[in-house]
Amino acid sequence: EKKELEQYIGKPSVTRDGVQVEIVANIGKPEDAEKVLQYDGEGVGLFRTEFLFMDRTSMPTEEEQFEAYKKVAIAMNGKPVIIRTLDIGGDKEIPYMGLEKDENPFLGYRAIRFCLDRKEDIYKPQLRALLRASAFGNIRIMVPLVTCIEEYREARGLVEELKAELDEAGIAYKKDIQVGIMVETAAASLIADIFAREVDFFSIGTNDLTQYTMSVDRGNKKVSYLYSTFNPAVLRSIRHIIACGREAGIMVVMCGEAASDPMMIPLLLAFGLNEFSMSASAILRARKMVTEYSVQELQAVADKAMSFATTAEVEQYMKEFVESGT
Ligand code: PEP
Ligand code: MG
Repeated sequence: EKKELEQYIGKPSVTRDGVQVEIVANIGKPEDAEKVLQYDGEGVGLFRTEFLFMDRTSMPTEEEQFEAYKKVAIAMNGKPVIIRTLDIGGDKEIPYMGLEKDENPFLGYRAIRFCLDRKEDIYKPQLRALLRASAFGNIRIMVPLVTCIEEYREARGLVEELKAELDEAGIAYKKDIQVGIMVETAAASLIADIFAREVDFFSIGTNDLTQYTMSVDRGNKKVSYLYSTFNPAVLRSIRHIIACGREAGIMVVMCGEAASDPMMIPLLLAFGLNEFSMSASAILRARKMVTEYSVQELQAVADKAMSFATTAEVEQYMKEFVESGT
């Protein structure tokens, strides 16, 4: 299979009927960029910056972060690199941050909520490091776990404020740097039309979107039977987010696990997803799948999939569709 997939290196990710999408990678460390290039990823769709903060006893300085972000930007050589600002709390703990344990960590003090509360010591240094690194490549900033427009405006406002400071100091950065959001809460999905008017791009985080749509802790085995991206509610949410993004003319990426699921890819193509972000090793297989489909022909498949009432029926139908190879 490896040899067969290697022939997709250097090929565009384009469907039989000429719809071009991008297949990019999720990474956790700057060094991972090598693997992305090896598998011919068209960029980085998600750099989880938490990993820079983990396994150490103090926060990485602005300088250390700058070096890490710059390294990825340079390695990717002009290809887009979406870097997500610190997404801690929930399942990701960092002892030295002095975070108390919330009673409901996934519904608590985390990600953008935490960062906006710690602007001076945590968020601004990270944003400044990102801006400075953006002078060395095609960096885009992504804000996690947004639930309301005020959070985005506040984060965006900080970016603009820091840009002005850099201008003043004569420090280079990408003037038109994009600032987008993860759409991974039920609230953000429901008002995706409103977000689409202000944000530069959407990235659908299906790992959390499924959790927050189904009210199911993503790590709890006892209720994991409810946790499926093929649940009709989750699928409707995904379809809605993509439709809102497309209507506003902004790019829609998916960086949750579903983006590389062979049974999900046909549906995402039919919904009009622009960019699929996944682990580097999954890229070529996904590209092969994309080249075998026609978006137009997939419309009927998506319509049928969306007509079912249960997760089991959707999964069964998509399994049969994928296995039939048509
Ligand atoms: C997601 O929620 O789908 C996602 C990509 O982010 P993480 O898994 O890091 O929460
Ligand atoms: Mg998430």
